[in-house]
Amino acid sequence: MTPPLLEMRDVTRSFEVSAGLLRRRRTLRAVNGVSLRLEKGEVLGLVGESGCGKSTIAKMLLGLLPPQSGAILLEGRSLAALDRKAVARRIQPVFQDPYSSLNPRKTVGAIIALPLRVHGIGDRRERRARVFAMMDRVGLAPRLHASFPSQLSGGQRQRVAIARALITAPEILICDEPTSALDVSVQSQILNLLQDLRRELGLTYLLISHNLAVVEHMATRVAVMYLGRIVEEAASETLFGRPRHPYTEALLASVLTPEPGLGLPDTGLGAAFPNPLEPPSGCAFHPRCPKAMPLCRGTPPPARSKDGARVECHLCAAAVP
Ligand code: SF4
Repeated sequence: MTPPLLEMRDVTRSFEVSAGLLRRRRTLRAVNGVSLRLEKGEVLGLVGESGCGKSTIAKMLLGLLPPQSGAILLEGRSLAALDRKAVARRIQPVFQDPYSSLNPRKTVGAIIALPLRVHGIGDRRERRARVFAMMDRVGLAPRLHASFPSQLSGGQRQRVAIARALITAPEILICDEPTSALDVSVQSQILNLLQDLRRELGLTYLLISHNLAVVEHMATRVAVMYLGRIVEEAASETLFGRPRHPYTEALLASVLTPEPGLGLPDTGLGAAFPNPLEPPSGCAFHPRCPKAMPLCRGTPPPARSKDGARVECHLCAAAVP
């Protein structure tokens, strides 16, 4: 059987942080037993509120942060055993804030060409030609080749970041909130560009967002994350048509807020997102869950899987046997 293009198997990652008046060292469990599969050509949406562990997953999948337990596999081979440069040629990031991810002292041409230089691809003339071709592909006018990031709009800067990510012809893009720093009017342009590029170049995406409206636009499959765990995962149509986990239901309700592209979703759950240093017992969602039962306070819900869908909720035990 062909292994998935990229896979996380029961991955855990914690951080030691100083907290409280006495600045005591505490353990923050950012990712807690996460398994995910990214199949070739799909867009896997990863959604959840800030602080749920999405960006830690992005860093681990890029090979920037090792897992403490579990495994990350690229076509069945451990990411940890692969050469860092080889991984970088196959998996590239697109970050939220294009301005802070672009060197302000470099021109657009130099920024996009940098990965080619790092990987020793082509001579000067070839690199220049590839940069102009990539600028054309992402919708950047040739005259911007000598411009600096400060002279560009937010949308143009994100196009530069996408061009830089694609210049070495990677197979996978890890897109971490790729549009949330942009004006609402520009967001759909960048999402459509990412869709077109995926089709034309046969790319595979992990799309991380706190915004289900963005994910619905793009994703073929969706994983919902809460306090370091994937609480529901399903094909996009299934998840949006019939959400099973109460947290997914709340996130879906947040899509109906007037300006879903702005800020954190109003989940309508009342109670604030819990302190990740003191995760609730049992089901971590129970203090906010409108459907919580006494069982939920003391017993973590088991994962139930059926037909490619997976959910962690005591209520779903019968629905997804
Ligand atoms: Fe709510 Fe209980 Fe399900 Fe957790 S296990 S989501 S608290 S019903």
